[in-house]
Amino acid sequence: MVVWAVATIVSVENLYVAYGSQDVVKGVSLRVSQGEKIVIMGPSGSGKSTFLRSLIWLVKPREGRVVIDGLEVGPGTLREVRMRVGFVFQHYNLFPHLKVIQNIALPLVKIHNVPPQEALVRAREALRLVGLEDKADAYPLQLSGGQQQRVAIARALAKNPRVLMLDEPTSALDPELVEEVLQVLEDIARRGTTMLIVTHEVDFALDVADRVVFFEGGKIVEEGPVDILYNPKTERFRQFLKRLH
Ligand code: ADP
Ligand code: MG
Repeated sequence: MVVWAVATIVSVENLYVAYGSQDVVKGVSLRVSQGEKIVIMGPSGSGKSTFLRSLIWLVKPREGRVVIDGLEVGPGTLREVRMRVGFVFQHYNLFPHLKVIQNIALPLVKIHNVPPQEALVRAREALRLVGLEDKADAYPLQLSGGQQQRVAIARALAKNPRVLMLDEPTSALDPELVEEVLQVLEDIARRGTTMLIVTHEVDFALDVADRVVFFEGGKIVEEGPVDILYNPKTERFRQFLKRLH
């Protein structure tokens, strides 16, 4: 039998994250293979955002080990790690006084030392990927919420990240704007980018995810292939999914 070794791109071992004396991530371990799409679900307050953020030390873990793209996350590697990870938040955090194209190009120049001309080329390419080439010279507030989130996704993509992390990218959007963002994320997923996505969009998860991870109380309570969305193993996950409909 031939067993193909699939490279691990994110490895999390026994991660604990606390606010003050309160642990909110309690011993989470997770291995993500290159190109894998992981959907993270779980009730509000279960530690999903904290977990995702702590992987790149936006919140510093209290204990545990994270390796991303071969780099153990720590003071000496943090800058490099963050360069290799694209992050999309629930609220898109665009600079309102900068044109769309500059919102994408400027971080490339300032943080990644990309020459300005090349940054503009990469920014345009990223805008094309999210279907917003024609909005390059608009200001964020001239766009719909869905379009602004697509710009935020383009900004993350322009870094050519090894891993894309998205924290509830559609949950701040009006219902009629959700679909266009999910469609863009589906397109990106098909390009082979490794993705960790916190979302409760079940249909999207069914289409895109290789694995679903269910968080509760700061722990992974259940994980498995998308089938677990139809046949959850734990009563907790079953109840959670029932409430989504
Ligand atoms: P989720 O994303 O699953 O809703 P969070 O990671 O945002 O969960 O929150 C997990 C727990 O940590 C919650 O009890 C929340 O109130 C708490 N928490 C989140 N952010 C902070 C913070 N900056 N300071 C203190 N407590 C926080
Ligand atoms: Mg959250």
